[in-house]
Amino acid sequence: MDAVDSQIQATLKKFWGFDTLRPLQEAAIRAGIEGRDSLVVMPTGGGKSLCYQVPPIVARRTDVVVSPLIALMKDQVDGLRQSGYPAAALHSGLDPDSQREVESGMAEGSYRLIFAAPERLVSPRFLQWLANAEIRNFAVDEAHCISHWGHDFRPEYRQLAELKHRLPAVSLHAFTATATVRVRDDIIAQLRLRDPVELIGSFDRPNLVYRVLPRTDAHAQTLEILNRHRGEAAIVYCLSRRETEELAAALAAHGLRAAHYHAGMDPERRRRTQEEFMAERLDVVVATVAFGMGIDRSDVRCVIHTAMPKSIEHYQQEAGRAGRDGLPAECVLLYSGADAMRLQSLIERSAAEAQALPQVLETSMRLLQQMRSYASSLRCRHAALSEYFGQRYEADQCGACDVCLDEVAGVEDGTVTAQKILSCIARTDQRFGAAHIADVLVGSANARIRQWKHDKLTTYGLLADLPRKSVLNLVYQLVDQGLVDRSDGERPILELNSLSWEVMRGERKVQLQQPRGGDRVARTRADSESWEGVDRALFESLRELRRELAMQRGVPAYVIFGDATLRELARLKPTTLEDFAGVRGVGEKKLQDLGGGFVAHIREYCAGSSPQRHRDTETG
Ligand code: ADP
Ligand code: ZN
Repeated sequence: MDAVDSQIQATLKKFWGFDTLRPLQEAAIRAGIEGRDSLVVMPTGGGKSLCYQVPPIVARRTDVVVSPLIALMKDQVDGLRQSGYPAAALHSGLDPDSQREVESGMAEGSYRLIFAAPERLVSPRFLQWLANAEIRNFAVDEAHCISHWGHDFRPEYRQLAELKHRLPAVSLHAFTATATVRVRDDIIAQLRLRDPVELIGSFDRPNLVYRVLPRTDAHAQTLEILNRHRGEAAIVYCLSRRETEELAAALAAHGLRAAHYHAGMDPERRRRTQEEFMAERLDVVVATVAFGMGIDRSDVRCVIHTAMPKSIEHYQQEAGRAGRDGLPAECVLLYSGADAMRLQSLIERSAAEAQALPQVLETSMRLLQQMRSYASSLRCRHAALSEYFGQRYEADQCGACDVCLDEVAGVEDGTVTAQKILSCIARTDQRFGAAHIADVLVGSANARIRQWKHDKLTTYGLLADLPRKSVLNLVYQLVDQGLVDRSDGERPILELNSLSWEVMRGERKVQLQQPRGGDRVARTRADSESWEGVDRALFESLRELRRELAMQRGVPAYVIFGDATLRELARLKPTTLEDFAGVRGVGEKKLQDLGGGFVAHIREYCAGSSPQRHRDTETG
C-alpha cells in the first residue's frame, strides 16, 4: 500500500465509514488526484460520486463539480455536510445571505468541493474566482447531457466546451451512466478531453431483480406488486399524466402513501411531492418520465413500469433508480404488445411534426424494436441487458430475474389454447375486442353475450377453467406475437391475419406464457440474505428515528444513514459508541452527531424486547 492508498483509505473511513472501494472507483480516484482527464461510465448506483469527492480531500485542494440540477446539488451538499465534508453549491436558488456566505467561504478556501451549474462556470465572476483560487480540476456529473445522442440533452452543457479553451491547464473528469459508444465519444470530443483514462464499469446491477409480466390489469397488478413492498419506497412509471393521477388515487384508496407526479403540475406541487418522497413521508410516486434526475433516494425498493418505455436506455435509466444502496430491489415491467403500437404511432407523429430526418425515425424505431424484444423474449433479463450495452454476461443463471427464477411457465398446450382463442374470434365475425372475446371464452353470462347470442357458440366457455383475466392475458400474447391483429382507434377489435389461419390449420406451433399472479413470485436468495440476522422491528424503528432526525434538520432522510447502514445496525445492535463506530457507513462526524442518539435508541429497544425474546426461547 503506498502513501496515496492509505490516504484514500483514511478519507473513506473518516467521511463515509467505508472500508473498501468498488471496482473502478480506485482508478477513477487516482486519475482525479493526478489531474489526468477521465471519462467514468458506471450505472446508476455504481458509486460515481465518491470518485470526485475523494481526490480533493487527498490532494488538499478545491475542485468544482458541474451538475445539471439545483435539486441534485442541494441533496449532495446536504449529504456531504452531514458527513462533515466541506462542500457548497452556488446556484440561482440561493438567497443573498447564503450566496455571500458561500462566496466568502470560497475566497477563504474553506471548501473541498463547489457545485455549480454549467452556465455559471463561464460567467466572468466565477472565472475570476477560478483564476484566483487556482482551481485546476473539474468533475462533470451527468456528462451525457452534453450530447445530442443522449436522452437528456441540455444546451447549457455545450458551454463546457469553453473550459479547456479558456483554462488549458485544467483537468476534466466526466461521469455518466449512459453507456452507448456514440455518447461516450461525443462527451470526449465536446469536452475536448486529452488522452483520457476511460473507465467503463459493468452495467449489470446484480441486486436488481427484473420481471416482465404480461399486462392484464395495470391497477391490480401494480397493487399486488406494491403489496410486497408495503412501507418501502417505490416509483411507478406511466405513459400519460392522466394515468398517473388515476393510479395514484387508486393506490391511495388501498391505503398506500402514494401521490402522482408529472410535468403538468404546478412547480410548487411538484417540488412538494418530491420533498415528501425524499423525506420518507411518501412511499410511492406514480409518475411520468418527468420524475427522474434529481431523485437521489437510495432506498427505492421497487420500480414498476405500467407500460413499455421507448428504449432499453430509458428502461435502464428509470429502472436503475431502484436499489442504489446496493440492497435487493425489484424492477417490474408490465407489458402488452399494444404498447409498441401506441409508441410507434407516437414516434411517427412527433417525427412528422418535427420534420425529423428519416434516419432519426429509423433509429427510434430500432430502439423501440429492441425494447420490445427484451419484453417479449424469454431470455435471462440480466444477460439481455448486459449484452445490449455491449458487455458479456458470464453467469448462465442470474438467480435474479423471472426467467432464471423459473417464474415463467409455458401454457401446457399453447397451440390448442391459441386455436380456441382464434376460432372464437372467427366465430364472432372479427367484430369484437379482447374483453368480449375473453368473456365468451370463459362463459360469462353478461347482457352483451346474450344480446349477440354468443352463449350459443361452440366456443362459448371453452376456457372456462381459467380466470377471465388470464384469458385476456393470453389473447394479448397472441396480439404480441403477431398471430392476430388489433385495430387502431378508440375501440380496437381483433382481426385474423394469415398467421392466425396457419395456427388454426395446425401449420404453426404457438408458445404461450402462463399468465401468473404474485403467488408465483419467488423470494430471491439475495433478498433473504440481505435480511439475515436483521431484527426487522428494530430496523423499522430506526427508520422512524431517521425520519425524525431528517425532519429536524430539513434534509432528505437518506443523508442521515442509508438503508444498508440501518440494516447493519439492526443486525449488530451496537450499544456502545465504540461498536457503533465500527459499523459500515458510520464516519467520524456522524459518530459524533448521531452516535449518542442511535445507541440510546438501540439500548432502549433491546431492554424493551429482550424479556420477550427470553420467553420465546424458553417456550420454543
Ligand atoms: P451514482 O452516482 O453512480 O449513481 P452514488 O455515488 O450515489 O452512485 O452511490 C450509490 C450508493 O453506493 C450510495 O449509497 C453510496 O454511499 C454507496 N457507495 C458508493 N461507493 C461505496 C463503497 N466503496 N462502499 C460502500 N458503499 C458505497
Ligand atoms: Zn436471469
